[in-house]
Amino acid sequence: KSAGDYFSKPFPRRKSVGVNVGGVTVGGDAPIVVQSMTNTDTADADSTVAQVAALARAGSELVRITVDRDEAAAAVPRIKERLERIGINVPLIGDFHYNGHKLLTDHPGCAEALDKYRINPGNVGFKAKRDKQFSQIIEMALEYDKPVRIGVNWGSLDQELLTHLMDENQENGSPLTAEQVMREAICQSGLLSAQRAEELGLGRDKIILSAKVSQVQDLIAVYTDLAQRCDYALHLGLTEAGMGTKGIVASAASMGVLLQQGIGDTVRVSLTPEPGGDRSREVQVSQELLQVMGFRSFVPVVAACPGCGRTTSTVFQELAQDIQGHIRDNMPIWREKYPGVEGLNVAVMGCIVNGPGESKHADIGISLPGTGEEPAAPVFIDGKKAVTLRGPNIANEFKDMVLDYIEK
Ligand code: SF4
Repeated sequence: KSAGDYFSKPFPRRKSVGVNVGGVTVGGDAPIVVQSMTNTDTADADSTVAQVAALARAGSELVRITVDRDEAAAAVPRIKERLERIGINVPLIGDFHYNGHKLLTDHPGCAEALDKYRINPGNVGFKAKRDKQFSQIIEMALEYDKPVRIGVNWGSLDQELLTHLMDENQENGSPLTAEQVMREAICQSGLLSAQRAEELGLGRDKIILSAKVSQVQDLIAVYTDLAQRCDYALHLGLTEAGMGTKGIVASAASMGVLLQQGIGDTVRVSLTPEPGGDRSREVQVSQELLQVMGFRSFVPVVAACPGCGRTTSTVFQELAQDIQGHIRDNMPIWREKYPGVEGLNVAVMGCIVNGPGESKHADIGISLPGTGEEPAAPVFIDGKKAVTLRGPNIANEFKDMVLDYIEK
């Protein structure tokens, strides 16, 4: 084997126990699941229903909502009912911090309506209270037959456990660096909590773990450790990934490395939205990450060249964008109407250098004329030249051909 053979495809998926979250399996042999989270006030049912629906329509297979106070917990059953009425059956996850035990106990309708409870072991309570409050949430999960995610976050790490591990390390002559102790505390916080949940009677098929940090290398290290130490299904996510391209690149870099190693059963890309920005962007990024790595297919791929000095026109870029947008907008309908459409490859190229070659590799591709070339655009279908388009209407004619190909 050459070195390249080892990296030409992901390593086998790490074996994990599958968890059924409201009909969507996370882990086991199931495909890696895309999930997202709302940023509306859950007590505002109108806004929350609208955002959950938008995220689900964009492709989020699980949606998490904040449940932080009585008004929010009281709104959850209404939100669930209203979503079902408009045909959105996406599983809902309640995100609890500090008072989850109380909210779940006081609002049985909320406990019933949610499909999973997220527990943060770092803030479920302190000292003697911790075990009581944690146990209370696990008892509710048992009573309502719901899975939980034990979600450690280094920003709200169990300080008592961290201090204990730091003291222990010092007593042993400090064999571990401060970063290593921190990573160990993050892993142990998740593992010990999961173990406690099992002792209380929750099955392994009801527990998902996550251990989020905000630095790429730390995330890779923490999850690599965690993956070796348990077989719980793992939820991947880089916390506080940041805004715009930085957040996208950091999430893709860290999760890409882990996914390549077979680690990760569900992903959430956390992007700080631009003011007024579209929340479903993080769903799109998760989908694209899984698709470019070859794990799943969500939307047809449009390959477009970047353009260069050989083309002075932006026609091909506009056409590529136009087609990508058109496909994305129509996917909810096309997915039902044309099974397999997400596997389609379209190429839109700028000149003769790579245009015909790349177009031949696509299901359908067009090579537009570069500067000084004859004004003709050959279209290739299934690797063979089908037609040469000419004149001012090339873009629309090619779009029609793409639709025709999809329909056929
Ligand atoms: Fe430039 Fe042509 Fe390559 Fe596009 S295909 S980047 S226009 S050389």
